[in-house]
Amino acid sequence: MLSPKPIRTVCVYCASSEKSPVVYRDAAARLGAALAGAGLAIVYGGGSSGSMGRLAGAALAAGGKVTGVLPRFMNDLEWGHRALTELRIVDGMHERKRLMLELSDAVVALPGGSGTLEELFEAITWKRLGLYLGPIVIVNVAGFFDPCIELLRRGVEQRFMDQRHAAMWSVAAESEDVVAALRAAPPWSEEARGFAVPR
Ligand code: AMP
Repeated sequence: MLSPKPIRTVCVYCASSEKSPVVYRDAAARLGAALAGAGLAIVYGGGSSGSMGRLAGAALAAGGKVTGVLPRFMNDLEWGHRALTELRIVDGMHERKRLMLELSDAVVALPGGSGTLEELFEAITWKRLGLYLGPIVIVNVAGFFDPCIELLRRGVEQRFMDQRHAAMWSVAAESEDVVAALRAAPPWSEEARGFAVPR
């Protein structure tokens, strides 16, 4: 396996909801501050609401660099954050997800809804296929991801995935644990393609 690429920019997937328990939005703000404090730039979905808005606001307030990647239709709906370091407008959801991974060296997922889960699972799938090689850290705020982590483990146990695939993601209990988890993530390489399909 190759030595890991230095982590400079972190892609964060998180929720748009303003209605979820405040513990999740607070965790997003604390993650933004922790990443900015560690000198890491952030790429995220570019939204101004919910955990996304809190993440970006706290990172900017701590002097961090924050890039949003927003589909044009969301920009037209004025869902974008207006005070980011950079806001990249793209044609659609697929281009957004591709660009978010392309611009970053690592992925972090906070609790969220279908959008967050879809983004997390796409990153895991790409990593399995050797198309994305960076760390993937799941922040298990208030145990939100327990059923998801269990399902992933079950996928390995039932041999839909190889044992080695369990090294694709790691779990941090709190936002403050994320930087250490990113740095501790095991390296991954394109050779993963060789065991992508359990046979
Ligand atoms: P969800 O967890 O379902 O709220 O989805 C959040 C994810 O989907 C974010 O990481 C964004 O990439 C995207 N997304 C969903 N809703 C919005 C929104 N209102 N503004 C910007 N991005 C959004």
